[in-house]
Amino acid sequence: MPASARRPFKRPRHIPPTDYEVVVVGAGCAGLSAALVLGRCRRRVLLCDGGKTRNAPSPAVHGFLSRDGIKPQELLRLGREQLQPYTTVESREACVAQTERDPETGSFRVTLDSGRCVTTRKILLATGIADVLPPIEGMRELWGVGVLHCPYCHGYEVSDQPVAVYGRNKSAAGFALLISRWSKDVVVCTDGWTGMSEHSRHRLKRHGIALYEQPIRRLAGRRDGSLRQLEFADGSSLPRQALFIHPDQQQRSNIADQLGCRRLQRSGAVWVDKKIMTTVPGVYAAGDTTPAAQQALVAAAEGAQAAISINEQLTREECS
Ligand SMILES: Cc1cc2nc3c(=O)[nH]c(=O)nc-3n(C[C@H](O)[C@H](O)[C@H](O)COP(=O)(O)OP(=O)(O)OC[C@H]3O[C@@H](n4cnc5c(N)ncnc54)[C@H](O)[C@@H]3O)c2cc1C
Repeated sequence: MPASARRPFKRPRHIPPTDYEVVVVGAGCAGLSAALVLGRCRRRVLLCDGGKTRNAPSPAVHGFLSRDGIKPQELLRLGREQLQPYTTVESREACVAQTERDPETGSFRVTLDSGRCVTTRKILLATGIADVLPPIEGMRELWGVGVLHCPYCHGYEVSDQPVAVYGRNKSAAGFALLISRWSKDVVVCTDGWTGMSEHSRHRLKRHGIALYEQPIRRLAGRRDGSLRQLEFADGSSLPRQALFIHPDQQQRSNIADQLGCRRLQRSGAVWVDKKIMTTVPGVYAAGDTTPAAQQALVAAAEGAQAAISINEQLTREECS
């Protein structure tokens, strides 16, 4: 039975007819959590699951209350399973390709990559971000196991081990000092960048953090994805258990741009207000897509918060 046939409430006359009340784009922690709350509000929801989540290469999700250490795929499976009782939520493996806002009605037309078109009153972007890794051999292959982005997610697992921090800009020193909370054996590798300020060099030295400025040739790892050593262009090598890096990021989808949502200049994140709404009325965004802390639990919380805002806005429109 299509979700539209299971409508729990009669649509007030002044509300334009649409296939769904909300289309949630992306089914990671943010999207699944939003769909759960909207399902519990008995809203007609289409949840579009466009593929792998950002943490897919990682063996475990850490720091997620009650699920510390769970496999990323298992967390998603549980999230999808717990949507099943909520029959107004329709889940589809589909990528959203195109979105348009009807300026007259304020509703949206959403085109899936299959060519199917649906209409909706609100859109939630939970599309996440992509990490852009430097083109060094081994970087992509070891990403998520031997190459790590976040000490809050994976620092504990490499406690007291020899680790390196990769950075070609001034934030590398601060990142290394942060990592020294987990291990005292930290070095900074700048991969050929020599612009570190005297002040930063001094701070690193004071805390016993060595600086390697020569270009990196490759990261040598083991079959399980862990790091064995860094190999430099000058022929030298350095055994390390993990490399931390803050890679560049880009939005996973261009839907925010299609709809004209404002993005922050420096990070490219989609700007949202306190109600988790973007600058385009009716378009909300949650999770890594927004400027909030990039953590699975934070993404889930933001998804829930967006769902509440959406439900309250829909209710206001229906009861006007
Ligand atoms: C290697 C690694 C390990 C991590 N480990 C941890 C950890 O241990 N603990 C922790 O708290 N956080 C961790 N994180 C961060 C965590 O992965 C993110 O904060 C979290 O995944 C954000 O959830 P999200 O729902 O916003 O985005 P995602 O989980 O990335 O989900 C976005 C979804 O949207 C889909 N999508 C994109 N575009 C479209 C489209 N056009 N149509 C349909 N679907 C689309 C994507 O395919 C994806 O499934 C890790 C990140 C990385 C990179």
